[in-house]
Amino acid sequence: MTQKLNTNTDCYCGETIDIDCVLNDCIEVAAQYGWIVEKIFVPNEKELIVLKREYEAPQRRIYISAGIHGDEPAGPLAVLELLKQNVWPENINFHILPCLNPHGFKNNTRENEDCIDLNRDYYHCNAPEICAHVEWLDKSPDYDLTLCLHEDWDAKGFYLYEAMHPKHASIANQILDGVRPTFPIDDSEEIDGYPAVNGIMGVPSDLHTLKHWPESMYLFEKKKLLNYTLETASDFPLQCRVKAMCAAVKAAIETLRK
Ligand SMILES: [Zn+2]
Repeated sequence: MTQKLNTNTDCYCGETIDIDCVLNDCIEVAAQYGWIVEKIFVPNEKELIVLKREYEAPQRRIYISAGIHGDEPAGPLAVLELLKQNVWPENINFHILPCLNPHGFKNNTRENEDCIDLNRDYYHCNAPEICAHVEWLDKSPDYDLTLCLHEDWDAKGFYLYEAMHPKHASIANQILDGVRPTFPIDDSEEIDGYPAVNGIMGVPSDLHTLKHWPESMYLFEKKKLLNYTLETASDFPLQCRVKAMCAAVKAAIETLRK
Protein backbone atom coordinates (compact mmCIF):
# COMPACT_ATOMS: atom_id res chain seq x y z
CA MET A 1 0.00 0.00 0.00
CA THR A 2 2.90 2.36 0.61
CA GLN A 3 5.44 3.77 -1.81
CA LYS A 4 9.22 4.20 -1.85
CA LEU A 5 10.37 7.77 -2.07
CA ASN A 6 13.74 9.27 -2.85
CA THR A 7 14.10 11.52 0.19
CA ASN A 8 16.00 14.18 -1.78
CA THR A 9 13.43 14.58 -4.52
CA ASP A 10 10.28 12.90 -3.15
CA CYS A 11 9.94 11.00 -6.41
CA TYR A 12 9.36 7.29 -6.89
CA CYS A 13 12.62 5.41 -7.50
CA GLY A 14 11.50 1.89 -8.41
CA GLU A 15 11.36 0.36 -11.89
CA THR A 16 9.15 2.19 -14.35
CA ILE A 17 7.20 0.93 -17.35
CA ASP A 18 5.99 2.52 -20.58
CA ILE A 19 2.30 2.21 -19.76
CA ASP A 20 1.11 3.11 -23.29
CA CYS A 21 3.27 0.31 -24.63
CA VAL A 22 2.00 -2.19 -22.00
CA LEU A 23 -1.65 -1.24 -22.66
CA ASN A 24 -1.21 -1.47 -26.44
CA ASP A 25 0.31 -4.94 -25.96
CA CYS A 26 -2.63 -5.93 -23.70
CA ILE A 27 -5.12 -4.78 -26.37
CA GLU A 28 -3.24 -6.52 -29.17
CA VAL A 29 -2.89 -9.86 -27.33
CA ALA A 30 -6.48 -9.76 -26.02
CA ALA A 31 -7.88 -9.05 -29.51
CA GLN A 32 -5.76 -11.87 -30.92
CA TYR A 33 -7.41 -14.32 -28.49
CA GLY A 34 -10.94 -13.07 -29.15
CA TRP A 35 -11.45 -10.74 -26.18
CA ILE A 36 -13.73 -7.74 -26.56
CA VAL A 37 -11.84 -4.46 -26.08
CA GLU A 38 -13.86 -1.53 -24.70
CA LYS A 39 -12.94 1.95 -23.50
CA ILE A 40 -14.47 3.88 -20.61
CA PHE A 41 -14.59 7.55 -21.56
CA VAL A 42 -12.99 9.88 -19.00
CA PRO A 43 -13.17 13.70 -19.42
CA ASN A 44 -9.99 15.61 -20.36
CA GLU A 45 -9.05 13.25 -23.19
CA LYS A 46 -8.52 10.27 -20.93
CA GLU A 47 -9.84 6.73 -21.17
CA LEU A 48 -9.71 3.45 -19.28
CA ILE A 49 -9.31 0.14 -21.12
CA VAL A 50 -11.67 -2.77 -20.37
CA LEU A 51 -11.01 -6.28 -21.70
CA LYS A 52 -13.95 -8.69 -21.71
CA ARG A 53 -14.13 -12.44 -22.26
CA GLU A 54 -17.78 -13.47 -22.09
CA TYR A 55 -20.02 -16.53 -22.39
CA GLU A 56 -23.81 -16.38 -22.76
CA ALA A 57 -24.53 -18.45 -19.63
CA PRO A 58 -21.39 -18.22 -17.49
CA GLN A 59 -20.97 -20.23 -14.29
CA ARG A 60 -18.98 -17.42 -12.70
CA ARG A 61 -18.07 -13.78 -13.26
CA ILE A 62 -14.64 -12.46 -12.29
CA TYR A 63 -13.35 -8.87 -12.27
CA ILE A 64 -9.65 -7.97 -12.18
CA SER A 65 -8.19 -4.46 -11.95
CA ALA A 66 -4.60 -3.24 -11.83
CA GLY A 67 -2.51 -0.11 -12.01
CA ILE A 68 -4.50 2.22 -9.76
CA HIS A 69 -1.19 3.33 -8.22
CA GLY A 70 1.27 4.60 -10.83
CA ASP A 71 4.29 3.32 -8.91
CA GLU A 72 3.17 -0.33 -8.86
CA PRO A 73 4.10 -1.80 -12.25
CA ALA A 74 3.71 -5.53 -11.42
CA GLY A 75 -0.12 -5.42 -11.75
CA PRO A 76 -0.41 -4.21 -15.37
CA LEU A 77 2.53 -6.44 -16.36
CA ALA A 78 0.85 -9.46 -14.71
CA VAL A 79 -2.34 -8.76 -16.68
CA LEU A 80 -0.30 -8.69 -19.91
CA GLU A 81 1.49 -11.92 -18.95
CA LEU A 82 -1.81 -13.69 -18.14
CA LEU A 83 -3.28 -12.55 -21.46
CA LYS A 84 -0.23 -13.95 -23.27
CA GLN A 85 -0.47 -17.27 -21.40
CA ASN A 86 -4.16 -17.47 -22.41
CA VAL A 87 -5.09 -20.26 -20.00
CA TRP A 88 -8.50 -18.94 -18.94
CA PRO A 89 -11.10 -21.55 -17.92
CA GLU A 90 -14.25 -22.04 -20.02
CA ASN A 91 -17.63 -20.67 -18.89
CA ILE A 92 -16.23 -17.93 -16.67
CA ASN A 93 -16.73 -14.33 -17.75
CA PHE A 94 -13.81 -12.00 -17.17
CA HIS A 95 -13.80 -8.21 -17.06
CA ILE A 96 -10.24 -6.89 -16.75
CA LEU A 97 -9.09 -3.27 -16.35
CA PRO A 98 -5.31 -3.41 -16.86
CA CYS A 99 -4.63 0.15 -15.67
CA LEU A 100 -6.84 2.53 -13.68
CA ASN A 101 -4.21 5.30 -13.40
CA PRO A 102 -2.36 5.66 -16.74
CA HIS A 103 -1.25 9.22 -15.91
CA GLY A 104 0.29 8.07 -12.62
CA PHE A 105 2.52 5.68 -14.57
CA LYS A 106 3.51 8.41 -17.01
CA ASN A 107 4.58 10.61 -14.05
CA ASN A 108 5.90 7.73 -11.88
CA THR A 109 3.59 8.76 -9.06
CA ARG A 110 1.23 6.81 -6.83
CA GLU A 111 -1.44 9.48 -7.39
CA ASN A 112 -2.97 10.81 -10.60
CA GLU A 113 -1.79 14.12 -12.10
CA ASP A 114 -4.03 16.07 -9.67
CA CYS A 115 -2.23 14.42 -6.70
CA ILE A 116 -5.33 12.36 -5.83
CA ASP A 117 -4.72 8.86 -4.47
CA LEU A 118 -7.34 7.15 -6.65
CA ASN A 119 -7.51 4.21 -4.26
CA ARG A 120 -8.90 6.49 -1.53
CA ASP A 121 -11.44 8.21 -3.77
CA TYR A 122 -14.27 5.68 -4.15
CA TYR A 123 -16.57 7.41 -1.65
CA HIS A 124 -16.23 11.01 -2.79
CA CYS A 125 -15.25 10.33 -6.43
CA ASN A 126 -13.27 13.56 -6.85
CA ALA A 127 -11.12 12.21 -9.69
CA PRO A 128 -12.69 11.96 -13.17
CA GLU A 129 -11.14 8.50 -13.61
CA ILE A 130 -12.95 7.22 -10.51
CA CYS A 131 -16.28 8.90 -11.43
CA ALA A 132 -16.13 7.15 -14.80
CA HIS A 133 -15.05 3.85 -13.26
CA VAL A 134 -17.81 3.89 -10.63
CA GLU A 135 -20.43 4.74 -13.28
CA TRP A 136 -19.20 1.77 -15.32
CA LEU A 137 -19.14 -0.52 -12.24
CA ASP A 138 -22.71 0.41 -11.34
CA LYS A 139 -23.88 -0.83 -14.75
CA SER A 140 -21.79 -4.00 -14.57
CA PRO A 141 -23.16 -7.37 -13.46
CA ASP A 142 -22.50 -8.68 -9.97
CA TYR A 143 -19.21 -10.54 -9.86
CA ASP A 144 -18.48 -13.71 -7.89
CA LEU A 145 -14.91 -12.58 -7.29
CA THR A 146 -13.00 -9.32 -7.70
CA LEU A 147 -9.22 -9.02 -7.56
CA CYS A 148 -7.31 -5.72 -7.20
CA LEU A 149 -3.58 -5.99 -7.97
CA HIS A 150 -1.15 -3.88 -5.90
CA GLU A 151 2.42 -3.61 -4.57
CA ASP A 152 3.94 -2.51 -1.26
CA TRP A 153 7.46 -1.18 -0.59
CA ASP A 154 7.30 -1.98 3.12
CA ALA A 155 6.18 -5.61 2.78
CA LYS A 156 8.58 -8.50 3.40
CA GLY A 157 6.68 -10.76 1.02
CA PHE A 158 3.32 -11.34 -0.60
CA TYR A 159 0.13 -10.66 1.39
CA LEU A 160 -3.54 -9.90 0.76
CA TYR A 161 -6.54 -8.01 2.09
CA GLU A 162 -9.78 -9.99 2.22
CA ALA A 163 -13.30 -8.48 2.09
CA MET A 164 -15.87 -11.23 2.25
CA HIS A 165 -19.66 -11.18 2.42
CA PRO A 166 -21.02 -13.98 4.67
CA LYS A 167 -22.44 -15.90 1.69
CA HIS A 168 -18.90 -16.57 0.48
CA ALA A 169 -16.15 -18.90 1.71
CA SER A 170 -12.61 -17.64 2.05
CA ILE A 171 -10.11 -18.62 -0.65
CA ALA A 172 -7.25 -16.62 0.91
CA ASN A 173 -5.18 -19.67 1.88
CA GLN A 174 -5.54 -21.19 -1.58
CA ILE A 175 -4.30 -17.93 -3.15
CA LEU A 176 -1.31 -17.80 -0.78
CA ASP A 177 -0.57 -21.51 -1.41
CA GLY A 178 -0.48 -20.70 -5.13
CA VAL A 179 2.04 -17.91 -4.54
CA ARG A 180 4.27 -19.73 -2.01
CA PRO A 181 6.36 -21.79 -4.50
CA THR A 182 7.39 -18.61 -6.36
CA PHE A 183 7.52 -15.88 -3.69
CA PRO A 184 7.78 -15.60 0.12
CA ILE A 185 4.63 -14.79 2.12
CA ASP A 186 4.84 -11.88 4.58
CA ASP A 187 4.06 -13.52 7.92
CA SER A 188 4.43 -10.30 9.99
CA GLU A 189 1.85 -9.80 12.75
CA GLU A 190 1.41 -6.22 11.57
CA ILE A 191 1.56 -4.95 7.98
CA ASP A 192 1.15 -1.30 7.01
CA GLY A 193 0.05 -0.54 10.58
CA TYR A 194 -2.77 -3.11 10.61
CA PRO A 195 -2.95 -6.60 12.17
CA ALA A 196 -2.13 -9.52 9.87
CA VAL A 197 -2.25 -13.31 10.27
CA ASN A 198 -0.07 -15.42 7.96
CA GLY A 199 -0.28 -12.90 5.12
CA ILE A 200 -4.05 -12.32 5.46
CA MET A 201 -5.62 -9.01 6.53
CA GLY A 202 -9.09 -7.55 6.75
CA VAL A 203 -9.86 -4.26 4.98
CA PRO A 204 -8.88 -1.46 7.42
CA SER A 205 -12.03 -0.08 9.08
CA ASP A 206 -10.55 3.42 9.53
CA LEU A 207 -10.64 3.88 5.75
CA HIS A 208 -14.38 3.22 5.92
CA THR A 209 -14.88 5.61 8.84
CA LEU A 210 -12.84 8.36 7.19
CA LYS A 211 -14.63 7.75 3.89
CA HIS A 212 -11.25 7.16 2.24
CA TRP A 213 -12.72 4.26 0.33
CA PRO A 214 -10.33 2.13 -1.70
CA GLU A 215 -11.70 0.36 -4.80
CA SER A 216 -12.05 -2.86 -2.78
CA MET A 217 -14.37 -1.12 -0.28
CA TYR A 218 -16.62 0.17 -3.06
CA LEU A 219 -16.77 -3.29 -4.64
CA PHE A 220 -17.56 -4.86 -1.29
CA GLU A 221 -20.14 -2.31 -0.18
CA LYS A 222 -21.98 -2.09 -3.50
CA LYS A 223 -21.64 -5.61 -4.81
CA LYS A 224 -21.55 -7.64 -1.54
CA LEU A 225 -19.01 -10.02 -2.89
CA LEU A 226 -15.65 -11.67 -2.37
CA ASN A 227 -12.76 -9.28 -2.90
CA TYR A 228 -9.01 -9.70 -2.60
CA THR A 229 -6.47 -6.91 -2.77
CA LEU A 230 -3.26 -8.72 -3.73
CA GLU A 231 0.04 -7.13 -2.68
CA THR A 232 3.54 -8.09 -3.85
CA ALA A 233 6.63 -6.75 -2.09
CA SER A 234 8.28 -4.10 -4.27
CA ASP A 235 11.82 -4.81 -3.02
CA PHE A 236 11.90 -8.04 -5.04
CA PRO A 237 12.89 -8.03 -8.75
CA LEU A 238 10.00 -6.96 -10.99
CA GLN A 239 9.93 -10.26 -12.89
CA CYS A 240 9.50 -12.18 -9.59
CA ARG A 241 6.65 -9.88 -8.54
CA VAL A 242 4.89 -10.38 -11.87
CA LYS A 243 5.31 -14.15 -11.54
CA ALA A 244 3.91 -14.08 -7.99
CA MET A 245 0.93 -11.96 -9.06
CA CYS A 246 0.15 -14.30 -11.97
CA ALA A 247 0.34 -17.29 -9.59
CA ALA A 248 -2.05 -15.58 -7.15
CA VAL A 249 -4.60 -14.72 -9.84
CA LYS A 250 -4.47 -18.21 -11.33
CA ALA A 251 -4.88 -19.83 -7.88
CA ALA A 252 -7.89 -17.61 -7.14
CA ILE A 253 -9.55 -18.42 -10.49
CA GLU A 254 -8.84 -22.15 -10.16
CA THR A 255 -10.25 -22.26 -6.61
CA LEU A 256 -13.41 -20.42 -7.61
CA ARG A 257 -13.84 -22.65 -10.71
CA LYS A 258 -13.96 -25.73 -8.46
ZN1 LIG B 1 -1.34 0.09 -4.43
